[in-house]
Amino acid sequence: MRIVTVPRREEGNMVDWIYDEIVLAADVVSRNGWKSVRSNSKEAKALSALLRRGALHAGADLPANFRSVASIQRKTADLETARPGYQGKATRGNRLDRIVIVQFEQDPTGMQQRASMIRRLLEEGEELPMSVGDADDYGDEGGLVEFVGRRRERDPKLRSRKLDAVEASGLPIACEVCSFDFGERYGSRGKGYIEVHHRHPLHVTGATRTHLDELALLCANCHRMCHRGDWITPDSLRAIMHAEVASRSAP
Ligand SMILES: [Zn+2]
Ligand SMILES: [Zn+2]
Repeated sequence: MRIVTVPRREEGNMVDWIYDEIVLAADVVSRNGWKSVRSNSKEAKALSALLRRGALHAGADLPANFRSVASIQRKTADLETARPGYQGKATRGNRLDRIVIVQFEQDPTGMQQRASMIRRLLEEGEELPMSVGDADDYGDEGGLVEFVGRRRERDPKLRSRKLDAVEASGLPIACEVCSFDFGERYGSRGKGYIEVHHRHPLHVTGATRTHLDELALLCANCHRMCHRGDWITPDSLRAIMHAEVASRSAP
């Protein structure tokens, strides 16, 4: 599923709510028994203060009333009334609201963990650049958690520590899923090349720092397949690959 993270302007001073903001608002609504919160509630004040820092719209020119407590109340009402089973007339709300609501219904714990990780990353000063939708390497899912995760995967220091650890253990620098070895296939041009991947998304591990065991070595194809759509682990990808091979060799 593609989640558009580039904010778009609507008429007037509206800045569209992006995925991460809706997840935070839906988290507030879900913790309130799927009821909206009033603008003078401590939940609305806290969410407004966090979002008004603008880190999810870095570089954008934000209006003075951006994510005011009143807009938090409106958004939580949109989410409450867009929920399946809501008795009564729905307020506005959009497609992305409904996607987030479905995600909360299917995986309430995972989505609450995602919301806490988004809050933590924002509190630590992480920003989601406006260009992330274009700069996204994998293009299948984009939110702050994925953006920070992918950036850590490309961190040269973390990468060299992981490669040193693998070499010290006597294992080859090759894909953990399909065993592809860039040096074996491409000679000196490919030697030492491998991609580094988090086995689980940041909100699932809940860790602020990445442990080396949490990193897997993958070839470019397997890496992309792990990120495509829902984030799956290298173990799950290997199981899928073996099942495919077995189904083809079956009589
Ligand atoms: Zn591979
Ligand atoms: Zn990865």
